[in-house]
Amino acid sequence: MDKKRVYLDNSSTTAVLPEVVKEMTPYFSDIFGNASSFHHFGREAKKALDASRIKIAELINATPDEVFFTGCGTESDNIAIFGVLNAYCKKGHIITTKIEHHAVLYSFRHLEKQGYKVTYLEVDKDGVISAEDLKKAVAEDTLFVSVMHANNEVGALQPIAEIAAALNEINSKRKEKIYFHTDSVQTAGKLKIDVKKLGVDLLSMSGHKFGGPKGVGVLYVKRGTKIESVTFGGHHENGLRPGTENVAGIVGAAKALEIANSALDEHDKHIFFLREKLKKGILETIPEVIINGSGSRAVSNILNVSFNYIEGEALLLKLDMKGIAASSGSACATGEPSHVLAAMRADPVAAQGAVRFSFSYNNTEEEVDYVLSVLPEIVQSLRNMSPVWRSKKQ
Ligand SMILES: *Cc1c(COP(=O)(O)O)cnc(C)c1O
Repeated sequence: MDKKRVYLDNSSTTAVLPEVVKEMTPYFSDIFGNASSFHHFGREAKKALDASRIKIAELINATPDEVFFTGCGTESDNIAIFGVLNAYCKKGHIITTKIEHHAVLYSFRHLEKQGYKVTYLEVDKDGVISAEDLKKAVAEDTLFVSVMHANNEVGALQPIAEIAAALNEINSKRKEKIYFHTDSVQTAGKLKIDVKKLGVDLLSMSGHKFGGPKGVGVLYVKRGTKIESVTFGGHHENGLRPGTENVAGIVGAAKALEIANSALDEHDKHIFFLREKLKKGILETIPEVIINGSGSRAVSNILNVSFNYIEGEALLLKLDMKGIAASSGSACATGEPSHVLAAMRADPVAAQGAVRFSFSYNNTEEEVDYVLSVLPEIVQSLRNMSPVWRSKKQ
């Protein structure tokens, strides 16, 4: 690489690990069969598909028949939400939060237009919902709850196990079960995902967020969950997600999760160290910054910072010119104000200057040093162009 490049946008996507590429490669050429085919080529592909399903099931404490492969995290979320609601054959009340990824949030908005009653739970200043609020929101006709495991913009961790326990108790007194889904896209490969301990009925993950390839999602569906497919075709994935399986991608996703899980604590320590170093460095060298979200109730890899008096987009542009990749909260919402920071009641003007740095365990201390060597000057130069900042300084 001719130019120094530092990638701190790992919550948008991650590089595919070299060991993963190696594991996937034969499935593009030698073992290219359709996993549904009867012959040797098909059987070889099916073997790899089954082995990947078993691997992922073991890693999340599920059984292989509870693991479904999809096309991405977004699709897993959609199948979970629409699949369960379709199986109810009636409309009712559904609950989610104000800070979901658009894959969930826009699904709920769509359902709202179709006549479902929706509760969007509030969060506190750190971006965390209260299980108490959720319990209070449950009504006679509540059918479904979806709460993300960790938020993708600020990293806030939600009390999933506590919510599951509350819903379990409510369910024990009801004829019809309220199903509980969590979007675990930002936690898979970073925290140990144990579906039994979390107590959820459905859980989504995405391969490209943990060192696997793009185009592979995983959906855990607890045995006994009433769910119907939302697309129609063949019998693939037990009919829940018809379409020829992306065998190479699935092999890669399973390998990536295995590698990530082999050293979760070690990776977490490293990522936490890098994030705290960057945070400390920013706080020491740049005045008027706000850290969005609390480190104690959040995943270790995300640092969301508002730089007052500047536009986040302008800062990202300047960083990019220095070879540093970060993002404004979510890759999909560029230009729009963040619904997550708004829900956290962040000052809307300060939120304009919010930037998300997100780490992987392959980032280094040197990279953080490099960011800290250029960031204060960039922020200063942008602030010098701001009339508000200048008038304040006079
Ligand atoms: C990235 C992301 C998704 C979407 O996953 P894709 O595989 O990109 O479709 C969903 N939820 C969260 C929290 C995410 O960060």
